[in-house]
Amino acid sequence: MLTRRAAAMAAALVVALAGCHSNGSAEPAATEPAATEATPSSPVEPVPPAQAANDDVNAWRQVGTSVQGRPLRALTLGHGPRKVLFIGGIHGDEDEGTYTTAQLPAAFLADGLADTVTLTILEDANPDGRAAGSRGNADGVDVNRNFPAKNFDTGTAAYGGSPLSQPESRAVKALIDEVNPALVLVSHSWSGDEFINFDGPAREIAERFSAATGLKVKNSSSFAPTPGSLGSWAGRDRGIALLTIEILKGTDPQREWERIKTALLAAIAG
Ligand SMILES: [Zn+2]
Repeated sequence: MLTRRAAAMAAALVVALAGCHSNGSAEPAATEPAATEATPSSPVEPVPPAQAANDDVNAWRQVGTSVQGRPLRALTLGHGPRKVLFIGGIHGDEDEGTYTTAQLPAAFLADGLADTVTLTILEDANPDGRAAGSRGNADGVDVNRNFPAKNFDTGTAAYGGSPLSQPESRAVKALIDEVNPALVLVSHSWSGDEFINFDGPAREIAERFSAATGLKVKNSSSFAPTPGSLGSWAGRDRGIALLTIEILKGTDPQREWERIKTALLAAIAG
């Protein structure tokens, strides 16, 4: 297809040049290449390289805006059929995943995953909370309780009153709708403990992650009720495999990255 198209374009160029040479009036000749170009593309037409590459680790785009007007930024890398979403943080006072979020783009590309995986990284789902060092967003709402899960709790003000009442949760939902990931990984931290937790069809991936890192697997229901959480909505209600990585609060982020890097890339690879 490429060869035929290239040949057609070359032929069109020759015709156009010939038109210019002959009498200085290019109009009749110019009509023909335009018609050739308008021929409908075959279904096997390759994706233009500009869209397929996705190898610029600095190509962050804004996918939402926080209550206080801070951008929520995402980066998409690779072009493989497996879609994965990594969220660098959602509770503002849990910033242990920041270093991992910064290192992941280059590590993903260096690991050669770009042909099999399309990885989208959401830098931080709660930049206002991050700036203030608070769990919730600037309205005091826990973004990770504001998703439209069946178990949403309307009676707790800190959960936002109604599903998706906050711009941050709306942006995360829109990104999940757009990416349609097979796996979502979310970075959190926990005081005095460290573990991974999963929702949806992620038991196997959680157990592999556990074996590689030493982080034990805990069931969601065993440690805290999580009404309206991302895990409740995306994992349990929508059936997306979701892995929550609870790093020990206060851990050196660089050391944590070194510890989980291999398991994280393996989970992303699938
Ligand atoms: Zn958390």
